[in-house]
Amino acid sequence: MTALTYEQLRSRLTTCVLHEPEGGYAPVPVYERLAQAIWFDQRLRRDALLTADGRRVRVVSPGWWNLEAGPDFRRAVVAFGDDKPQLGDVEVHLRASDWHQHGHGNDPLYNDVLLHVVLWQDGGDRPALTASGRVLPRLVMSDQLEAPLEELYDAIDPESYPYNVDEHIGRCAERLQSLPPDTLDALLEDAGRDRLRAKARRLARWIQRQGVEQALYAAILEALGYKQNKEPMRRLAALLPVARLRELPAAQAQALLFGVAGFLPDRALARRDETARRYVRSLWSHWWKVRDEFAGRALSADAWRLSGLRPANFPWRRLAAMTQLLALHWELWPKILEAVERMAENKVVTHLAALFTDLEDPFWSRRYSFASKSQPRAELLIGAARARDIVINVVLPAVVAQGWLLDNPALIEKAENVFRAHPASGSNALVRFTAHRLFGRRPPAIRTAARQQGLLQIFHDFCLNDRSGCRQCQFPDLAREFVMQRSGRALD
Ligand code: SF4
Repeated sequence: MTALTYEQLRSRLTTCVLHEPEGGYAPVPVYERLAQAIWFDQRLRRDALLTADGRRVRVVSPGWWNLEAGPDFRRAVVAFGDDKPQLGDVEVHLRASDWHQHGHGNDPLYNDVLLHVVLWQDGGDRPALTASGRVLPRLVMSDQLEAPLEELYDAIDPESYPYNVDEHIGRCAERLQSLPPDTLDALLEDAGRDRLRAKARRLARWIQRQGVEQALYAAILEALGYKQNKEPMRRLAALLPVARLRELPAAQAQALLFGVAGFLPDRALARRDETARRYVRSLWSHWWKVRDEFAGRALSADAWRLSGLRPANFPWRRLAAMTQLLALHWELWPKILEAVERMAENKVVTHLAALFTDLEDPFWSRRYSFASKSQPRAELLIGAARARDIVINVVLPAVVAQGWLLDNPALIEKAENVFRAHPASGSNALVRFTAHRLFGRRPPAIRTAARQQGLLQIFHDFCLNDRSGCRQCQFPDLAREFVMQRSGRALD
């Protein structure tokens, strides 16, 4: 058998070839990304767009290009006929039948899709249905393009999308680009401090209701759940309060956390690995004594989502990290206070994150699951980036909250100073997306937590509330006012 080439592999993504209109035969592959770019840039006859069943379509905004799971475009604004514009998602395919081929009709992630956009209407009129049973209007682009497809193919570089194109930059970008760096930093830091205080307000309520140790434990567990598992982590923190784990050896605390989380495996699972077998047996030896207490309340393994997670981030490794954190520091608040004091005095920005990275577990430092092989090298239970996230999103807001509750303005000032100097979290799709909208193709380097959080606050306050494709957004005017007040100078 001849070896498969990469070109052959890639051709499986292709459903069509274009032919040069004149001259020799020159097949050109068309990929879905080209169709997405056509929709994103609205290279369509925009004044006369129709759905396949003949309704007028007005696109106020094509939506935000989504690089994560789910529909291709989020938060599009589209009006049908004389109806008011609607906010929702858009899914783009090469062919109408791809909706069924890709199984979107069974996936609740696609329930908010309001328009199915296809390049070609292939055979059959089977409608696209969402998992909630809604029939989706379909827009076929091939007969509504602003220019022949061959021309668009030549004009569009799909690899530049979504961040290396000048289109889709926000209306505020020009104004922000014209700001002197120190003024821009001040604007972002101000917005970042607002975000820190909003998080502190939430934590202050938790502290008042549950005490500082339980609030920290619950908020750290929530942060260790990432996006996928925040909810089961919250439920776990409520079912198994930190007071119940306090002063237990890590092995017993793990048995309780894993048992209540629904993670304790069948003892047969680890049969072939002596270390795993002993470990699972020891967990069961603690868990069976207390499990009746949690009958009918413990979570089931189905409550957790593992798809899209790196094995190193699986929730059982995060729970093991929590037990080791508690074993080292039965009371977290004094440790945090001490680290903030040291950081404020020495301007050293690593102490707090080290509380979370310096954790080891005899089993989980080298394992990704109960059944996986032991890895030759230990891997951090909580990596540096996640530790920074916890400091920025939980620990520093908790210090500000305690400053308010204890009426200690000096503590608040220290926390805010640490926040201004602390390195930013790692970049992610949302940070890149917002930086592109606010600053264009060459965004400034945003290295501190305060500025990165400021960027996200502007996104939440303005971009997320805008339904006008930037036209009615107040941020550009407010940014102008901010600059005038700060510097006494007017902007164009
Ligand atoms: S919605 Fe507002 S803040 Fe967001 S990019 Fe547009 S103008 Fe800027």
